[in-house]
Amino acid sequence: MSTYLLSPPAVTSVAVQGSDSRFPVRRIVCVGRNYADHAREMGNDDRDPPFFFFKPTDTLIDSGVEMPYPSLTKLLHHEVELVVAIGKGGTDIDVGDALGHVYGYAVGLDMTRRDIQLAARDVGRPWDWGKGFDLSAPCAPLSRVSDIGHLSKGAISLRVNGEVRQASDLSQLIWGVPEIIAIASQGMALRAGDLIFTGTPAGVSAVSEGDLLEGVIAGLEPVVTRVGPRSGGLR
Ligand code: MN
Repeated sequence: MSTYLLSPPAVTSVAVQGSDSRFPVRRIVCVGRNYADHAREMGNDDRDPPFFFFKPTDTLIDSGVEMPYPSLTKLLHHEVELVVAIGKGGTDIDVGDALGHVYGYAVGLDMTRRDIQLAARDVGRPWDWGKGFDLSAPCAPLSRVSDIGHLSKGAISLRVNGEVRQASDLSQLIWGVPEIIAIASQGMALRAGDLIFTGTPAGVSAVSEGDLLEGVIAGLEPVVTRVGPRSGGLR
């Protein structure tokens, strides 16, 4: 029997609506530029193939938990996104079979240190420092496909202190959920427990300490977080 020299890290998980059990998370895969209006607002073409980046699994926090204003940035941005939870893994998944791999859906926030991300982008460096900081992925409870079915359209929005900043519809996704699953599974084995953040619509904007963020997708539980005091760096 093997032993560990340190206590193994806790399993990161997401709440499940209507269940006392939680969904254990293996990886967080994020899609960049998946709504045409957001691709354009960031200065990019809107017909590029999808690309992926990751957030560390332990960046997840439950809805209702305060998110400290992160270190190293003066430009913290919100990105509201449809999150797909994979319940059955696979590689080279066929588009026509892809929805059969989905366990459920949630609303998530891909919080971003935009100044760091753009500086990295402009010199061809990785996005990790702009995207993968601690507590950067608030996520609402998952709704199970067995309860709500699949989502291909429906309003998606984000409010800051009650003011609408992002408002679009899931039908505006450039690459829909089946295509994202199929394409992602060509580049890595998807496994049960993976979450896919599917990209954000236009309207990303800066938030400040004390702001209340609410992400909403029709038919899903909302995600809510308040931005807390700065956690360190660049005070
Ligand atoms: Mn994003």
